[in-house]
Amino acid sequence: VRIKGNYPHEIGELAATLNYMADEIVRSNQIKDDFISSISHELRTPLTGIKGWSETLVSGGFDPEETKLGMSIISKETERLIGLVEEMLDFSKLQQNQMKLVIGQVNLKEILQETMLNVWAKAEQKQIKLVLEPGDASYIVQADGNRLKQVFLNLVDNAIKFSPNESTIKLVIKELAPERVRIVVKDSGIGISTEFLEKVKDRFFQVNPNQGGTGLGLAITQQIVQLHKGEMHIESELDHGTSVMVDLPLLEKKPATPDLTKEAN
Ligand code: ADP
Repeated sequence: VRIKGNYPHEIGELAATLNYMADEIVRSNQIKDDFISSISHELRTPLTGIKGWSETLVSGGFDPEETKLGMSIISKETERLIGLVEEMLDFSKLQQNQMKLVIGQVNLKEILQETMLNVWAKAEQKQIKLVLEPGDASYIVQADGNRLKQVFLNLVDNAIKFSPNESTIKLVIKELAPERVRIVVKDSGIGISTEFLEKVKDRFFQVNPNQGGTGLGLAITQQIVQLHKGEMHIESELDHGTSVMVDLPLLEKKPATPDLTKEAN
């Protein structure tokens, strides 16, 4: 519905505002429709795998190797479904301001090491090297360790997804003045063009909607960072790579703990 006609100035302005709102509603409905269609697809793919393999296994007659393969696919696809559902639940919690943080003192280097362990297998599949540059001190922040890990897992996951085989992904901790600390996740992957750089943090947005995923990851990540009184920035150059910067309030800086793996050698 559009409001037309010659009206006095204020009414003209009101009409323009209402027209703008109507356009926004159409646009946001379109975004929601696209989201529902992409999430349905995301849910259907693993379900099809689970259904296919469970039916095949029930029919019997396989050797232990084949049975193991089928079971491992079922288990992997189930994990994927749980991940998707958790992502949607997190998103909805954040929308309703219901995400509760369990705050403690968190050593950033430890969180990044745990993150790297979690994604190691995925990086290995593409022979991607993960490098941690922890800085020359132990940086402690006040945070929900699990939620912070979720932030870095998502960023490194994206970095792996959008990087070529045999490339390197760096996780860098830097001190920012005063009393702030920056974690950078830097890849040398496909990059993001300037046209889309502002949009990738929007919910549901994907540069290429056919590549899987929901477009919720960065929106969730940014909101978790903001709940920690932090900020997230993205710098990227098409075909050269992307750096995501997470800046957080620094609680304390301690002398670096010795690297036990190096000492042991
Ligand atoms: P999704 O879960 O669908 O990947 P995200 O919110 O995490 O959603 O990311 C949104 C979009 O931003 C991605 O679909 C991709 O187009 C782009 N993107 C995110 N991280 C990177 C990266 N490291 N390199 C290139 N493009 C990226």
